[in-house]
Amino acid sequence: MRAEKLTGLDFERAGMDIAILPVGSVERHGDHLPIGTDTLIPDFISQKVAETLNCLVLPPVWYGSCKAMRNFAGTFDIPEEVLYKYLKSIMVEARRNGIRLLVVVNGHGGNSVPIAMAAREATRETDLSVLVVDWWKDLGAESLSKFSSPGHAGEDETSAMLAVNSDIVKMDLAKSHEIQYPSFKLYSKKLDECLYRIALTGDATRASKDKGEELMKSVISDLIKIIEEAKRIITG
Ligand SMILES: [Zn+2]
Repeated sequence: MRAEKLTGLDFERAGMDIAILPVGSVERHGDHLPIGTDTLIPDFISQKVAETLNCLVLPPVWYGSCKAMRNFAGTFDIPEEVLYKYLKSIMVEARRNGIRLLVVVNGHGGNSVPIAMAAREATRETDLSVLVVDWWKDLGAESLSKFSSPGHAGEDETSAMLAVNSDIVKMDLAKSHEIQYPSFKLYSKKLDECLYRIALTGDATRASKDKGEELMKSVISDLIKIIEEAKRIITG
Protein backbone atom coordinates (compact mmCIF):
# COMPACT_ATOMS: atom_id res chain seq x y z
CA MET A 1 0.00 0.00 0.00
CA ARG A 2 1.53 3.30 -1.14
CA ALA A 3 0.79 6.18 1.22
CA GLU A 4 1.04 8.83 -1.49
CA LYS A 5 -1.84 7.23 -3.41
CA LEU A 6 -4.23 7.07 -0.45
CA THR A 7 -6.72 9.77 0.45
CA GLY A 8 -6.42 11.02 4.01
CA LEU A 9 -9.61 9.21 4.87
CA ASP A 10 -8.34 5.92 3.42
CA PHE A 11 -5.03 6.43 5.20
CA GLU A 12 -6.90 6.82 8.49
CA ARG A 13 -9.16 3.83 7.82
CA ALA A 14 -6.20 1.61 6.92
CA GLY A 15 -4.89 2.12 10.49
CA MET A 16 -1.42 0.87 9.59
CA ASP A 17 1.06 0.56 12.43
CA ILE A 18 4.06 -0.61 10.37
CA ALA A 19 5.49 1.55 7.59
CA ILE A 20 8.54 1.37 5.36
CA LEU A 21 10.45 4.51 4.45
CA PRO A 22 12.83 4.25 1.46
CA VAL A 23 15.71 6.73 1.78
CA GLY A 24 18.17 7.37 -1.03
CA SER A 25 20.04 10.04 -2.92
CA VAL A 26 20.19 11.97 -6.15
CA GLU A 27 23.75 11.24 -7.14
CA ARG A 28 26.05 10.47 -10.05
CA HIS A 29 26.45 6.73 -10.61
CA GLY A 30 29.10 6.38 -13.33
CA ASP A 31 27.78 7.15 -16.80
CA HIS A 32 25.41 4.20 -17.04
CA LEU A 33 23.05 4.32 -14.02
CA PRO A 34 20.30 6.88 -13.34
CA ILE A 35 21.00 9.51 -10.68
CA GLY A 36 17.97 8.21 -8.76
CA THR A 37 19.50 4.71 -8.38
CA ASP A 38 19.95 4.95 -4.60
CA THR A 39 16.25 5.69 -4.13
CA LEU A 40 14.81 3.51 -6.90
CA ILE A 41 16.37 0.33 -5.47
CA PRO A 42 15.16 0.79 -1.84
CA ASP A 43 11.77 1.84 -3.17
CA PHE A 44 11.54 -1.42 -5.14
CA ILE A 45 12.62 -3.48 -2.10
CA SER A 46 10.13 -1.64 0.13
CA GLN A 47 7.28 -2.18 -2.32
CA LYS A 48 7.94 -5.94 -2.57
CA VAL A 49 8.25 -6.35 1.21
CA ALA A 50 5.05 -4.36 1.79
CA GLU A 51 3.16 -6.58 -0.66
CA THR A 52 4.09 -9.64 1.42
CA LEU A 53 3.63 -8.13 4.88
CA ASN A 54 0.65 -5.95 3.95
CA CYS A 55 2.15 -2.79 5.38
CA LEU A 56 2.51 0.79 4.26
CA VAL A 57 5.25 2.32 2.07
CA LEU A 58 5.74 6.01 2.85
CA PRO A 59 6.78 8.44 0.10
CA PRO A 60 10.56 8.06 -0.30
CA VAL A 61 13.18 10.59 0.76
CA TRP A 62 14.92 11.21 -2.56
CA TYR A 63 17.75 13.55 -1.56
CA GLY A 64 20.69 12.43 0.57
CA SER A 65 24.09 13.44 1.83
CA CYS A 66 26.57 12.96 -1.05
CA LYS A 67 29.95 14.48 -0.23
CA ALA A 68 32.21 12.20 -2.25
CA MET A 69 30.42 12.57 -5.59
CA ARG A 70 29.71 16.29 -5.23
CA ASN A 71 31.92 17.40 -8.12
CA PHE A 72 30.02 15.32 -10.66
CA ALA A 73 27.02 16.59 -12.60
CA GLY A 74 23.84 14.99 -11.32
CA THR A 75 24.80 15.01 -7.62
CA PHE A 76 22.65 16.95 -5.14
CA ASP A 77 24.35 17.05 -1.75
CA ILE A 78 22.22 17.78 1.32
CA PRO A 79 24.18 18.68 4.49
CA GLU A 80 24.07 15.95 7.16
CA GLU A 81 22.52 18.20 9.81
CA VAL A 82 19.67 19.17 7.46
CA LEU A 83 19.04 15.56 6.47
CA TYR A 84 19.11 14.28 10.05
CA LYS A 85 16.59 16.89 11.22
CA TYR A 86 14.36 16.24 8.21
CA LEU A 87 14.46 12.47 8.79
CA LYS A 88 13.79 12.90 12.51
CA SER A 89 10.74 15.06 11.67
CA ILE A 90 9.42 12.38 9.32
CA MET A 91 9.90 9.73 12.03
CA VAL A 92 8.11 11.80 14.69
CA GLU A 93 5.29 12.55 12.25
CA ALA A 94 5.01 8.86 11.35
CA ARG A 95 4.40 8.08 15.03
CA ARG A 96 1.84 10.89 15.30
CA ASN A 97 0.08 9.21 12.35
CA GLY A 98 -0.20 5.90 14.16
CA ILE A 99 2.99 4.13 13.05
CA ARG A 100 4.63 2.06 15.81
CA LEU A 101 7.41 0.43 13.79
CA LEU A 102 9.13 2.41 11.05
CA VAL A 103 11.45 0.45 8.75
CA VAL A 104 14.04 2.64 7.05
CA VAL A 105 15.45 1.04 3.89
CA ASN A 106 18.54 3.05 3.08
CA GLY A 107 20.15 2.99 -0.36
CA HIS A 108 23.09 5.34 0.16
CA GLY A 109 26.19 5.16 2.40
CA GLY A 110 26.35 8.91 3.12
CA ASN A 111 22.93 8.71 4.79
CA SER A 112 23.80 6.10 7.41
CA VAL A 113 25.01 8.51 10.12
CA PRO A 114 22.15 11.06 9.71
CA ILE A 115 19.62 8.18 9.79
CA ALA A 116 21.18 6.76 12.98
CA MET A 117 21.12 10.19 14.65
CA ALA A 118 17.48 10.74 13.63
CA ALA A 119 16.43 7.26 14.80
CA ARG A 120 18.18 7.63 18.16
CA GLU A 121 16.50 10.93 18.91
CA ALA A 122 13.03 10.09 17.55
CA THR A 123 12.89 6.85 19.53
CA ARG A 124 14.06 8.59 22.69
CA GLU A 125 11.46 11.32 22.41
CA THR A 126 8.51 9.12 21.36
CA ASP A 127 7.55 5.43 21.70
CA LEU A 128 8.23 4.82 18.00
CA SER A 129 10.57 1.92 17.12
CA VAL A 130 12.81 2.34 14.08
CA LEU A 131 14.48 -0.50 12.21
CA VAL A 132 17.27 0.65 9.90
CA VAL A 133 18.87 -1.37 7.10
CA ASP A 134 21.54 -0.39 4.59
CA TRP A 135 20.29 -2.79 1.93
CA TRP A 136 23.63 -3.42 0.21
CA LYS A 137 25.41 -4.55 3.35
CA ASP A 138 22.79 -5.66 5.89
CA LEU A 139 20.68 -7.85 3.58
CA GLY A 140 21.24 -10.62 1.03
CA ALA A 141 24.70 -11.56 2.33
CA GLU A 142 24.69 -14.98 0.70
CA SER A 143 23.86 -13.56 -2.72
CA LEU A 144 26.20 -10.57 -2.29
CA SER A 145 29.16 -12.84 -1.61
CA LYS A 146 28.92 -14.06 -5.21
CA PHE A 147 29.78 -10.63 -6.61
CA SER A 148 33.50 -10.29 -7.31
CA SER A 149 33.46 -6.58 -8.22
CA PRO A 150 30.90 -4.76 -6.09
CA GLY A 151 30.99 -1.03 -5.42
CA HIS A 152 29.38 2.32 -6.11
CA ALA A 153 27.61 1.78 -9.45
CA GLY A 154 29.61 -1.48 -9.54
CA GLU A 155 28.62 -5.05 -10.31
CA ASP A 156 26.13 -5.43 -7.44
CA GLU A 157 24.37 -2.07 -7.68
CA THR A 158 24.20 -2.21 -11.47
CA SER A 159 22.75 -5.74 -11.32
CA ALA A 160 20.18 -4.57 -8.76
CA MET A 161 19.21 -1.63 -10.95
CA LEU A 162 18.85 -3.95 -13.97
CA ALA A 163 16.41 -6.02 -11.91
CA VAL A 164 14.47 -2.93 -10.82
CA ASN A 165 14.22 -1.29 -14.25
CA SER A 166 16.56 -2.31 -17.06
CA ASP A 167 15.06 0.33 -19.39
CA ILE A 168 16.92 3.12 -17.61
CA VAL A 169 20.34 1.41 -17.43
CA LYS A 170 22.83 2.11 -20.25
CA MET A 171 25.00 -1.01 -20.15
CA ASP A 172 26.98 0.16 -23.22
CA LEU A 173 28.41 2.93 -20.99
CA ALA A 174 29.23 0.61 -18.05
CA LYS A 175 32.89 0.73 -16.99
CA SER A 176 35.32 -0.91 -14.60
CA HIS A 177 37.32 0.90 -11.91
CA GLU A 178 38.68 -1.72 -9.53
CA ILE A 179 40.10 -0.04 -6.45
CA GLN A 180 41.24 -1.07 -3.01
CA TYR A 181 39.46 0.65 -0.13
CA PRO A 182 41.76 1.17 2.87
CA SER A 183 41.00 -1.21 5.75
CA PHE A 184 40.73 1.76 8.15
CA LYS A 185 38.49 4.83 8.32
CA LEU A 186 40.23 7.67 6.52
CA TYR A 187 38.27 10.85 5.91
CA SER A 188 40.03 12.67 3.09
CA LYS A 189 39.09 14.61 -0.02
CA LYS A 190 42.22 13.21 -1.66
CA LEU A 191 41.08 9.64 -1.01
CA ASP A 192 37.56 10.36 -2.32
CA GLU A 193 38.98 11.86 -5.53
CA CYS A 194 41.08 8.77 -6.07
CA LEU A 195 38.35 6.24 -5.20
CA TYR A 196 35.61 7.96 -7.19
CA ARG A 197 37.65 9.23 -10.16
CA ILE A 198 34.88 8.17 -12.57
CA ALA A 199 32.01 8.10 -10.02
CA LEU A 200 32.15 4.31 -10.14
CA THR A 201 33.95 1.61 -8.18
CA GLY A 202 34.09 -2.11 -8.96
CA ASP A 203 33.26 -3.57 -12.36
CA ALA A 204 29.86 -2.62 -13.76
CA THR A 205 30.47 -4.55 -17.00
CA ARG A 206 30.01 -7.83 -15.07
CA ALA A 207 26.49 -6.91 -14.00
CA SER A 208 23.45 -8.79 -15.25
CA LYS A 209 19.72 -8.75 -14.73
CA ASP A 210 19.78 -12.39 -13.57
CA LYS A 211 22.34 -11.61 -10.86
CA GLY A 212 20.26 -8.61 -9.82
CA GLU A 213 17.06 -10.61 -9.60
CA GLU A 214 18.73 -13.21 -7.40
CA LEU A 215 20.18 -10.46 -5.21
CA MET A 216 16.85 -8.63 -4.86
CA LYS A 217 15.10 -11.90 -4.00
CA SER A 218 17.47 -12.64 -1.14
CA VAL A 219 17.47 -9.00 0.05
CA ILE A 220 13.65 -8.97 0.17
CA SER A 221 13.40 -12.31 1.96
CA ASP A 222 16.04 -11.24 4.53
CA LEU A 223 14.21 -7.98 5.20
CA ILE A 224 10.89 -9.79 5.73
CA LYS A 225 12.58 -12.04 8.32
CA ILE A 226 14.21 -9.07 10.07
CA ILE A 227 10.93 -7.14 10.28
CA GLU A 228 9.18 -10.20 11.78
CA GLU A 229 11.99 -10.49 14.33
CA ALA A 230 11.82 -6.75 15.16
CA LYS A 231 8.05 -7.06 15.63
CA ARG A 232 8.59 -9.88 18.12
CA ILE A 233 11.09 -7.78 20.06
CA ILE A 234 8.95 -4.65 20.31
CA THR A 235 5.74 -6.49 21.19
CA GLY A 236 7.35 -9.11 23.41
ZN1 LIG B 1 24.33 4.00 -5.19
